[in-house]
Amino acid sequence: HEMREARIRKTKTVCTYCGVGCAFDVWTKDRHILKVEPQMEAPVNQISTCVKGKFGWDFVNSPDRLTKPLVRKGDRFVEVSWDEALDVIERRIKDIQAQHGYDAVAFISSSKATNEENYLMQKLARAVMHTNNIDNCSRYCQSPATEALRRTMGLGGDTGSIKDLELADLVLIVGANPAEAHPVLSTRLRRAQKKRGQKHIVADVRRNIMATRADLFIQPRQGTDLVWLSAVTKYIIDQGRHDEAFLRDRVNGFDEYVKSLEKFTLDYASEVCGLRKEEIIRVAEMIMEAERVAVCWAMGVTQHRGGSDTSTAICNLLLVTGNVARPGTGAYPLRGHNNVQGAGDMGCAPPFLPGYERVDNEAQRRKWEKLWGVELPTTPGLNNHQMVDAIHEGKLKAMYLCGEDMAVVDSNANYVEDAFRKLEFFVVQDVFLSKTAQFADVVLPAAPSLEKEGTFTNTERRIQRLYRVLDPLGDSKPDWEIIQMVANRFGANWHYSSPREIFEEMASAADLFRGASYDRLEGYQSLQWPVLPDGTDTPLLYTDGFAFPDKKARLYPVDWTPPIEVGEEYDLELNNGRLLEHFHEGNMTSRVPGIHEKVPETFVEISPELAKERGVTDGALVRLVSPYGSIKVRVTVTDRVSGKHVYVPLLSHADEEAVNRLTSSDHDTVTYTPAYKEMRVRMEVIQSC
Ligand code: SF4
Repeated sequence: HEMREARIRKTKTVCTYCGVGCAFDVWTKDRHILKVEPQMEAPVNQISTCVKGKFGWDFVNSPDRLTKPLVRKGDRFVEVSWDEALDVIERRIKDIQAQHGYDAVAFISSSKATNEENYLMQKLARAVMHTNNIDNCSRYCQSPATEALRRTMGLGGDTGSIKDLELADLVLIVGANPAEAHPVLSTRLRRAQKKRGQKHIVADVRRNIMATRADLFIQPRQGTDLVWLSAVTKYIIDQGRHDEAFLRDRVNGFDEYVKSLEKFTLDYASEVCGLRKEEIIRVAEMIMEAERVAVCWAMGVTQHRGGSDTSTAICNLLLVTGNVARPGTGAYPLRGHNNVQGAGDMGCAPPFLPGYERVDNEAQRRKWEKLWGVELPTTPGLNNHQMVDAIHEGKLKAMYLCGEDMAVVDSNANYVEDAFRKLEFFVVQDVFLSKTAQFADVVLPAAPSLEKEGTFTNTERRIQRLYRVLDPLGDSKPDWEIIQMVANRFGANWHYSSPREIFEEMASAADLFRGASYDRLEGYQSLQWPVLPDGTDTPLLYTDGFAFPDKKARLYPVDWTPPIEVGEEYDLELNNGRLLEHFHEGNMTSRVPGIHEKVPETFVEISPELAKERGVTDGALVRLVSPYGSIKVRVTVTDRVSGKHVYVPLLSHADEEAVNRLTSSDHDTVTYTPAYKEMRVRMEVIQSC
């Protein structure tokens, strides 16, 4: 009995799925996961989890797990030892560097990996491989929001805490569906709505779950959010209901900004957005009536060519109405992955060192050069979008990609695959032989979050520790150990013995994290950056001024970028997004038998009117065709979508159902975030039912 008890363990971890950052204890017996038990001490979720956090863990024991390094021999992979795999990596990358220079190699880090691993990945790229060609998947999602926050307020993070959202009197939710993509956050909003009478406005092209519960739901045309947001802001100013004292004392650029709003009249907005003028006025009135307003937004805003500008319009609205830097107010771009905030914070982006210090700022770069004892490259490198183009152009020859299924999640998947075929050398480090890994020359088996220690940073800048629940399966290893082995093959001489050491090194130099330490993060403790040297953290930003030299925020005039035009034959507007049960493309959740059985394949939602027009019913098989590719999916008829708007979840088990075969390489003009939400398609009926 005692022996049996000893094999049962309880270990704290942080969820590996969305950016809410739920923490809980995991009970295990050997490798068997007995249960997930949330705790009241968990700062974000307390005793809540969603279906993924509660039941989404059996993928760690999937027979599909990679347990040995693989090296390509012709058309197949063969299992090799770690030494053999590292030999190949060393030889091939050194050859390419000697022939084509350091910038012929690029690195992609992972929002599923820990902060410590992301820190090491960019250190590997910069300090060991001498290139700033390093990026992460925030390029695919919230980079436009980060850009907008930096333009207007100074720091690229949510301005308050999830706790603050509950204190808001009004939450405006734009292009986001937290009920499925950030479930525990939506539970907290729902509780505030029921208990405190919090009001919700939802603006979305699709009648998602949040919309069905909203106090006001508006359905602007796809890609027109900047226009109605600017019209709302103009209307509030025209009514004299802007926050004069806040604007005078804490914000620059009001007069110029007001001028930029001239064209955003109610008539113009109504025509462009397809909204009634009364709807726009009602949004403005609800904002004016509320003492505390917060805005949540996500991919429906950012994944457009004007994603940064629309995010900026949201920040402008908040500044004009004085809804920043007070509890219950602020800007909340909802982060998609568990550690996408951390991947950016740790410097996995072409211009940024850890803590958003810049490679082209001499003083900041010198500090890191001193710490690492090397000279660093001085100009920003390629982002992941530019990397794909550079491969096609023959400039980029090798890629080292960690934990990102880029062949599925990047837009214009056919173009991305063609690029991977052209690479001279490709290393993929992952838990599974993903679609992307199938193009690799060397595949390195990585351990998932349950099998390692480290920290994750959630959407509200909260750093939390995760502890090792299970040992790595087979010969797989935590990413930080793999990166260290690779770095040492290139002369690095690193000797990190634990993630704690890596974190301490990072916090010793990055100003945002000066006072952060593993001791201050023990157990369920957490810290929200910036963390001052004395360990004080910052749940609410900008209470002492905005992050600019004069401490004033900046209103930033923006204009509307109309959606992409494609041929008239593409008569349907395509949208895409997450499902509650699955995470993103389903790489992990599809390997959880219970979840897979519940939602085994993707589908296309079409409206009852479109179904009638095309003579199809539930279960019909159709081909969706765009100028970039086609997919084959089954039909679900639902009033969640209307008219000629169709919706395909990101879930994709089979090649032929991956929605990114349809999307283009168009992108946000500032950040290069793909315009995933701007595609038009046509529908061919294969089988009407
Ligand atoms: Fe995990 Fe997000 Fe669900 Fe929380 S809400 S349990 S972080 S997937």
